[in-house]
Amino acid sequence: MPMPELAPAPQAPHGAPLLQVDDLAVHFPITRGVFVQRQVAAIKAVDGVSFHVRRGETLGLVGESGCGKSTTGLAVLGLSPVTRGRIAFDGQPLADMDKADVHRFRRRAQMVYQDPYGSLNPRMRVADIVGEPLRIHGCTGGRDAYRKRVAELLELVGLLPQMAERYPHEFSGGQRQRIGIARAIALNPDLIVCDESVSALDVSIQAQVVNLFMDLQRELGLTYIFIAHDLAVVRHISNRIAVMYLGRIVEVADRDALYDDPQHPYTVALLSAIPVADPAVEATRARVKLTGEVPSALRPPSGCRFHPRCPHAMPVCQQEDPPLQPVAGSDRLVACHLRHLPTAGHA
Ligand code: SF4
Repeated sequence: MPMPELAPAPQAPHGAPLLQVDDLAVHFPITRGVFVQRQVAAIKAVDGVSFHVRRGETLGLVGESGCGKSTTGLAVLGLSPVTRGRIAFDGQPLADMDKADVHRFRRRAQMVYQDPYGSLNPRMRVADIVGEPLRIHGCTGGRDAYRKRVAELLELVGLLPQMAERYPHEFSGGQRQRIGIARAIALNPDLIVCDESVSALDVSIQAQVVNLFMDLQRELGLTYIFIAHDLAVVRHISNRIAVMYLGRIVEVADRDALYDDPQHPYTVALLSAIPVADPAVEATRARVKLTGEVPSALRPPSGCRFHPRCPHAMPVCQQEDPPLQPVAGSDRLVACHLRHLPTAGHA
């Protein structure tokens, strides 16, 4: 089914980062032992990730399932233990926050989950779901103000105020996701992590919800980290895109630069997998087929983690881990020896 028309793409904002992440690692220990548990290994879900998100910007975070993008999203919201690294929100490191700071941070940073069915309590009325953050944070302001705010939130996400008395099962998938979004914006947050927030929806509904996210960004000045495996959706909403592979970011670039001229072989492969609507163009397009499975994060490959699947792998790729660094003459960051070795050419 063709995707309905999407709203105009956003302009890239400038200015100080709202979120700064440096060398983030999230390792999940594997332990053994009956009486005394000892760590025997670790799943390196995220392993040295650095990026920033400017206020009002949308950073797309893409990659295959299991690459660590959702764990990264949870970590920046303080919802996952962090093994190493620094996360700073509005200049303040999360690790230095006291109880009051954490309470304020929870108001300012929210999440919209993937599953519009599983993330809403089926026994709660929509008014109670949307108003739950207001009650938790003591922001109800009295019965009338609370009702008015819930009605306002429903209208903001394109639902009718009279729907407040209904239960989640009375809504379609797209409407349920709108309820989840209303809940996420209830406390006027600055940052929203959208974790595969449109992935479970039909394509036609996906476009409507993407448009809603973009409208809300314009109206409320929101900043998004938009996590998805679907590059077509990320393209429209994002200002910049970071591509993740096996716990690492392998390429970061402005949206158009990344789609017009992908530099990392993994980005090239991901983009070549997106079908093109024009059958004539589609028939002549070169596809890059990745062989093999994504390796285990328990034992990532030596050197470049992508080398067992990379069509351009060189001997150095098995031994040296390419750092994420700027490509000469651009704002783009790429982790690939092809881009940084003096004698190497472009793929
Ligand atoms: Fe491929 Fe080597 Fe670049 Fe890794 S460093 S993406 S294996 S060419």
